[in-house]
Amino acid sequence: MNTTTVKAYGTEAADTPLKEMNIERRELQPHDVEFEVLYCGIYHSDLHQIHNDFGMTAYPIVPGHEIVGRITKIGSDVSDFKVGELAAVGCIVDSCQTCQHCDEGQEQYCDSFPKFSFNSPDKYLEGKMTYGGFSKTYVCEDKYVLHMPAFEDLASAAPLLCAGITVYSPLRYWNAGPGKKVGVLGIGGLGHLAIKIAKAMGAEVTVFTTSPEKVEDAKRLGADNAVLSKDPEQMKAYMGTQDFIIDTVSAKHDVNTYLGILKIEGTLVLVGLPPEPLEVGAFNVVMGRRSFAGSNIGGIKETQEMLDFCYKHNIVAESEIISMQQVNEAFERLEKGDVKYRFVIDMQSLN
Ligand code: NAP
Repeated sequence: MNTTTVKAYGTEAADTPLKEMNIERRELQPHDVEFEVLYCGIYHSDLHQIHNDFGMTAYPIVPGHEIVGRITKIGSDVSDFKVGELAAVGCIVDSCQTCQHCDEGQEQYCDSFPKFSFNSPDKYLEGKMTYGGFSKTYVCEDKYVLHMPAFEDLASAAPLLCAGITVYSPLRYWNAGPGKKVGVLGIGGLGHLAIKIAKAMGAEVTVFTTSPEKVEDAKRLGADNAVLSKDPEQMKAYMGTQDFIIDTVSAKHDVNTYLGILKIEGTLVLVGLPPEPLEVGAFNVVMGRRSFAGSNIGGIKETQEMLDFCYKHNIVAESEIISMQQVNEAFERLEKGDVKYRFVIDMQSLN
């Protein structure tokens, strides 16, 4: 298959900084959409993958899966998109489209495992992996391309493509809304959007943070209550109070404390991906018929629904816009938790 050489930013090993490199994008297929990448979010999952935390990274790797752009070309069979329109791609760029989950628009649970926007075997270019949005252009089958609403702050809307859908999907599934008490554990990229989205859905939101300086910030973001989780007295006051907790913590932590924060029959859903296993004490779930659950991003249809919901409610990420050349420094800061709350790359800087 013919390819086009495209400028990108990536790395050839877990311990070397990202640098400029050339990658190949496939020639446009009948159902493909090509767009110029305008903005791309930086994400803790990018960092996990660069460092090979999950043991699945193939190098070279070009990260980036919160990709917003403007369409430059469409294939001959594309009818739902036009050149010049805004478009976006999140995590998923392919799935089997034959299993029950794909049928239900839950491509994230595809029986054959979905293909991701980077570091997945490329179905078109044999022996290659997919390369992400830290690049000048992106090419994707139309089925997996989102219509990007014209957010006033388009750059800050990029993190919705992964962080936004990852928290929106479980909040919808477990019916966060009026009359529900929703706890948000960890205020980072995911957590700060969970506060905004759960509030817009009508829930009462309580944040649990390990960072004293985020207590006030959580309220500015819309939380009704904010608890410093290191303070046992503050935590005691919230035992047995929450219907639902969304746990966004990226490192090993004690979930048992938070199971105790749930009401009887409440659910704690893990979306954070600590690399080490977490331990759940049997009594902490058995005694209150409590559930310890997990949730993985969201399907394409639900991602579109989330984008439209966030546009309607004026929800975008709190972001710091950086140039492509600042990406290594940004990853170092992300590792230290030194970002409020998301980095977004202005891809014009890759010129
Ligand atoms: P992030 O911006 O780094 O935020 C993580 C937050 O977790 C931190 O801000 C901090 O909040 C808290 N935290 C970190 N270390 C902690 C520790 N040792 N103990 C307690 N709390 C700690 O990361 P993110 O981008 O929001 O991503 C969060 C996690 O979700 C990552 O593991 C990512 O890979 C995963 N993820 C999962 C999915 C999925 O589909 N399930 C999708 C995307 C990402 P406080 O300072 O408030 O305590």
